[in-house]
Amino acid sequence: MTTHPDTEIDALILDYNGVKGLQPTVPMWHQLAEVADWPDRDIRSFQEAFWGPRDAYDAGQLSDLAYWAKVLGYHPGPRALRSLRAADTEMWIRTDDRVLDILYRAHRPDLPMVLLSNAPHFLSDALDATAWRRELMTEALYSARLGLCKPDPAAYRHALAATGVADPGRVLFVDDRADNCAAAVRLGLRTLHYTGDPDDLARHLPSGSAATLARTVGSTLLAS
Ligand SMILES: [Mg+2]
Repeated sequence: MTTHPDTEIDALILDYNGVKGLQPTVPMWHQLAEVADWPDRDIRSFQEAFWGPRDAYDAGQLSDLAYWAKVLGYHPGPRALRSLRAADTEMWIRTDDRVLDILYRAHRPDLPMVLLSNAPHFLSDALDATAWRRELMTEALYSARLGLCKPDPAAYRHALAATGVADPGRVLFVDDRADNCAAAVRLGLRTLHYTGDPDDLARHLPSGSAATLARTVGSTLLAS
């Protein structure tokens, strides 16, 4: 699945959750189940209910209210919906500083970095408000805004167009899901199936110049 390391790339297309974004912790799932007032706080059944309509939510086909109505089996009131949405978003906005540091080091004007994430509208807005999105990403494409999710080939075509690079063989796609990577391979993109090892990511990226590194380390400190 993963293509050989090759720093001869002109652009990056990067997944968010599982690459830059950390997975939710077990206490976070318990917290969300608590906010949802889930019967017996049973996490397994809650996660099943949570993931069932998630693809449609990510694809922008369900409003926040419609999504949570499907999860809960009833329509939450406005205050409950705000709490659910906030707790849900909180679970997904923590980032892996090791990965961000590597991306800041690789960042340079002639290496576009495009975010391609399956995310609902509310999370998309939260990610757009972050310093790393503003400082690192040339463009950010979210499934809810595109109206389609990875691994739909159209999502990758949008992202490739956003890089401004015509040849997919000069673009590295990074994602933690094998099916998303397989779709990228079929479109001719270079692919890194990210499995949580930041060094593996670093090996696949061109190193930034010393001047770029000095600037970005400074901005990272300011942003943190
Ligand atoms: Mg992911």
